[in-house]
Amino acid sequence: MGSVDKWSRRLLLRRLAVAASLAGLATSRSELARAADAPPIAENDPAAKAVKYVVDATKAKGAAPGSTCANCALYQGKYGTKDGPCQIFPGKTVAAAGWCASWAPQM
Ligand code: SF4
Repeated sequence: MGSVDKWSRRLLLRRLAVAASLAGLATSRSELARAADAPPIAENDPAAKAVKYVVDATKAKGAAPGSTCANCALYQGKYGTKDGPCQIFPGKTVAAAGWCASWAPQM
């Protein structure tokens, strides 16, 4: 295994571990439905800053090309909507075009 593969695998495993640990924050579908009507989280919110959340993924430092909230495993918004709930920000919504350091690929 090459060093690039090793680091990519480590990064993926770390992201999955973070996603798994944060997934428990949102506990039910009704809670997520309520979150769809919730206000957007601000980039300067301490929770957002902790994971480097931005509303525009093209302006994110460290985002893989094409990765956005809309294609993140933790995003709970409906397909085609401009924002929706995220499992790591209970009671808030994120922009579908946004991104944060906890982004994880959909399986
Ligand atoms: Fe939530 Fe977006 Fe971060 Fe995924 S990339 S965890 S949907 S804020």
